[in-house]
Amino acid sequence: MVRTKVAIIGAGPAGLLLGQLLHSYGIDNIILERQSPEYVLGRIRAGLLEEGTVALLDQVGAGARLHREGLVHDGIELAFGGARHRIDMSTDVVAWLVFAASLGAGLMAGVFYAFSTFVMRALSRRPHPEGMAAMQTINVAVINPLFLGVFLGTAAACVAAVAAALLRWDHPGSASQVAGGALYLVGTFGVTLFGNVPLNNALARLTGDDPAGARRWDDYVRLWTRWNHMRTAAALASAGSLTVALCRGYGAD
Ligand SMILES: Cc1cc2nc3c(=O)[nH]c(=O)nc-3n(C[C@H](O)[C@H](O)[C@H](O)COP(=O)(O)OP(=O)(O)OC[C@H]3O[C@@H](n4cnc5c(N)ncnc54)[C@H](O)[C@@H]3O)c2cc1C
Repeated sequence: MVRTKVAIIGAGPAGLLLGQLLHSYGIDNIILERQSPEYVLGRIRAGLLEEGTVALLDQVGAGARLHREGLVHDGIELAFGGARHRIDMSTDVVAWLVFAASLGAGLMAGVFYAFSTFVMRALSRRPHPEGMAAMQTINVAVINPLFLGVFLGTAAACVAAVAAALLRWDHPGSASQVAGGALYLVGTFGVTLFGNVPLNNALARLTGDDPAGARRWDDYVRLWTRWNHMRTAAALASAGSLTVALCRGYGAD
């Protein structure tokens, strides 16, 4: 007669893993299997293992062969139209995404920094109809593919970078990646949309001969520049955080 604390029926993946887990906690157990050992060892139960399963196998010290012989997928394949389409989700893609987002945020910080440090000062020194007209022209000229491509493209890259970090939270640098993306999305993109753009729209309706023109132009410069300081700082902080995420998460070991 054999005595044991736990008897497990079946040496499938569930039974074997439970046995190993109990063993790692020092709990005595026996696995009963109706098939032969050759059958158990030779039967393939899974072609694909999810990350959580791999982590659990590592945790109980049963992952050595898996790491030696297993193929890491780093992506998925969609099959349609008679062909297989691979979507590469390897870390390299995310690394390039974070890299692009950090460059874009840095570039935007530079653009807005110029306005904070000298462009608005120069315009405010001109007679108000001149300053207003120049700013109105800038606000029209800025709507072009080169500026909007970087401004909106960086926002899109930040959304993807934040999503990638949340999906793989255990990956090093994820917190910096989320912080960097959120700083740009809220502090730069959001502030532009809800701070600067409404002011620009109001300025577009203002004419040089408006009796309250001088006061409204002064108000515009003061408020617009305040929002601009904020989005400059946010873009710079975003570029910094994303660079930290790159170094921590994708730097050489
Ligand atoms: C075609 C196919 C493809 C699959 N691909 C994947 C995949 O890619 N990835 C993935 O994660 N999963 C996959 N699965 C699912 C996976 O194989 C099962 O989830 C897994 O095998 C279930 O493990 P289990 O231990 O619960 O049961 P089982 O694997 O069925 O093991 C049960 C064991 O108990 C034994 N047994 C039963 N009754 C008794 C008894 N009375 N006395 C003694 N022994 C007994 C059986 O002989 C057997 O060895 C796939 C399944 C199939 C069918």
